[in-house]
Amino acid sequence: MSTIKTLSGEELFKNIISHAKEYGYIFPSSEIYDGLSAVYDYGQYGVELKKNIREYWWKAMVQMHENIVGIDAAIFMHPTIWKASGHVDAFNDPLIDNKDSKKRYRADVLIEDYVAKILTKADKEIAKAREKFGDSFDEQKYKTTNARVMEYLSKAEEINQRFKTAMDNNNLAEVKNIIEDLEIVCPISGTKNWTEVRQFNLMFSTEMGSTAEGASTIYLRPETAQGIFVNFLNVQKTGRMKIPFGIAQTGKAFRNEIVARQFIFRMREFEQMEMQFFVRPGDEIKWYNYWKEARLKWHLSLGFGNNKYRYHDHLKLAHYANAACDIEFEFPFGFKELEGIHSRTDFDLKSHEQYSGKKLQYFDPELNQSYIPYVVETSVGLDRLFLAVLSSAYQEETLEDGSQRVVLNIPPILAPVKAAVLPLTKKDGLPEKAREILEELKFGYNCQYDEKDAIGKRYRRQDAIGTPYCITVDHQTLEDNTVTMRYRDTMVQERIAITKLSEIIGEKMSLKTLLS
Ligand code: ATP
Repeated sequence: MSTIKTLSGEELFKNIISHAKEYGYIFPSSEIYDGLSAVYDYGQYGVELKKNIREYWWKAMVQMHENIVGIDAAIFMHPTIWKASGHVDAFNDPLIDNKDSKKRYRADVLIEDYVAKILTKADKEIAKAREKFGDSFDEQKYKTTNARVMEYLSKAEEINQRFKTAMDNNNLAEVKNIIEDLEIVCPISGTKNWTEVRQFNLMFSTEMGSTAEGASTIYLRPETAQGIFVNFLNVQKTGRMKIPFGIAQTGKAFRNEIVARQFIFRMREFEQMEMQFFVRPGDEIKWYNYWKEARLKWHLSLGFGNNKYRYHDHLKLAHYANAACDIEFEFPFGFKELEGIHSRTDFDLKSHEQYSGKKLQYFDPELNQSYIPYVVETSVGLDRLFLAVLSSAYQEETLEDGSQRVVLNIPPILAPVKAAVLPLTKKDGLPEKAREILEELKFGYNCQYDEKDAIGKRYRRQDAIGTPYCITVDHQTLEDNTVTMRYRDTMVQERIAITKLSEIIGEKMSLKTLLS
């Protein structure tokens, strides 16, 4: 039996970042020029993992749903779109600087973190009580009768309400008052020496056309969703789509994030995978609940365990939403948003109707009536999902013989390399036989050939990049066409006929098993 090393969140995160670099998953952008803040490049394995995640999402959304189709809209869009969507006027983060450390923070995040700490205290009390009372424990009752828990919960609620009111009224002075009243200190300097709170627009802008002929300012899209809204009728008409139906899209988005210190969790250039589901007005909450559940199920299909995920319902709704929640994931630095599910009402289509002067309505043949559909959105960051996969998969182990291995337990369907074919030695025709196997497997799977170093060392290399299967070709292979299959997660080895390889590799990648 091997033992798994338990690492603290910070240490684990540090090790994941250096492993990702060492094994060609993620490099800092422009590294030879000392990097570019919050921008990253994906290396030879990173690009495969990213592609596989994207494809797994796409298949689950588009291939598995008759009424969902995809598009690929351009990054550049007419600038008025961002006026209509509210991004020019309202896509701001309230920022605050600490005068001593010179560090910049999002005021909302400072307050949310403070509230999260209070809620963690309440959770601890509840967990203690649950342990004490066992099966007879009534959590709801405890929350409304235990003085200490009640105090924590009402304090959290009070701060949330005060913050929400301040933001709704665009009262930035009040946001600063909240930070001061709560005595929030800068984590770096430890002081309360704060600047005023300012609004900061997160969109990147650039010029299109030469200045001589009157260039116009255009924006790099901060979300992919708007490309779907402005194509709503194109797709509906040409695809003869009937409500309810969805349009899916994956692609780059850009945000000039103020605080970007968490590796690929918060980047300035990132990729989103979004789906806008168009429904009848009045049906939106039903579909919101449907997608909330469906998306969590999809995440669970990756097998990282239920306890890694939780819902976070939004108190502070965005200007376009009438219900919203996040699916949070337990990253090494705690539970944070992985995906957002938003009931966006008819805000976007209505606004585009107004700004463009074009009708964006659907004629519902069953109701014999035209209306602007309501929209439920699912929006997940591909890079964040990548980090979720990497941080769940990363494991440091001490083996029975005392040696160490670092393994990425990436679900086979997402693994960059599905199988490595390894001749035991470089002679006696074993490399030729191994290449023969590779030539066959490569039609179905991304495979690798490796003949360098002792076999144990080659297994470690594959463990470190997360290859689920190693196929070793030895002298017996030449006699009976069997190989040794070595499984990454258990390190168990078994003798398998070459003719069975493809089937075994494919077993854990069956969409039918994973998604049904
Ligand atoms: P946050 O509160 O973390 O800033 P958000 O609520 O602004 O995120 P949305 O606008 O709902 O995020 O975007 C949908 C998804 O896109 C998020 O759930 C996240 O996975 C991803 N995402 C958003 N911003 C970034 C970023 N800067 N870097 C990487 N992924 C991001």
